[in-house]
Amino acid sequence: ANRIVVKVGTSSLIHPNGAINLETFDQLAYTLSALNNQGKELILVSSGAMGVGLNKMHLKQRPAEIGAQQALSAIGQSELMTLFTQRFDHYLTDIAQVLLTHDIFDYPKSNKFVMDTFNCLLKDNVVPVVNENDTVATDELDHRTTFGDNDQLSAIVASHMNADLLIVLSDIDGFYDQNPKKFTDAHLISEVSNVADDEFTVAGGSGSRFGTGGMHTKLLAAQRMLAENRQMVLANGKDPQIIFDILAGKPVGTLFS
Ligand code: ADP
Repeated sequence: ANRIVVKVGTSSLIHPNGAINLETFDQLAYTLSALNNQGKELILVSSGAMGVGLNKMHLKQRPAEIGAQQALSAIGQSELMTLFTQRFDHYLTDIAQVLLTHDIFDYPKSNKFVMDTFNCLLKDNVVPVVNENDTVATDELDHRTTFGDNDQLSAIVASHMNADLLIVLSDIDGFYDQNPKKFTDAHLISEVSNVADDEFTVAGGSGSRFGTGGMHTKLLAAQRMLAENRQMVLANGKDPQIIFDILAGKPVGTLFS
């Protein structure tokens, strides 16, 4: 894989107690910088804005109001980028913030602008760090399902940017036959070639306090990738160097192929 989209979830960036997982930030920057130096084209899709915002404002729980959540995301987003900029600087890699909405590729004009932006950044070896633009993402009906759903956004980006591989990093080793946070006898499924009703049935919601989509949105992302003959790997982001193993073809996580 030469063009790779990496999506990192809130659960990998924020500890369960709400503290920021600085080690993940650092190891992600280290790993992506090393790959960037090898000539790979990387796009990072990062969640965590609200988690970082909660941390910054010393809040324990996300507020119920969507507007208050959007405000917290706005606070957290700049802090999130500061954390990434610091760590990527350390490894001499330039990054850029790209804020998108789920439907941005649906309109010919914005589609072209976004693609041109990505292509210029990649040509210059800059790693785009993508997040949903939570302030303007107000798709009324869809709001509760798409707000904060970077799983599907990462698949949309991978699809339009013609990436061969999407790596989704979460707080879990992969896709299980039942929610492993609830059932101790859950088994990891190492390869999935088709995502259908059976898979969605065993996909539960988020297991962490700050996570959002849970397994459901990850399966939707996988479905999109499979439909276009692209690969997706779901793996544990607690050590982002797992990306090296994935690219070396080692059997880690769940491969959707
Ligand atoms: P992230 O913040 O990384 O996007 P989420 O908390 O949204 O993570 O989603 C990951 C969680 O999905 C897991 O921690 C787990 O509790 C839950 N989950 C539900 N069903 C499954 C399943 N079948 N296999 C794996 N994880 C599952």
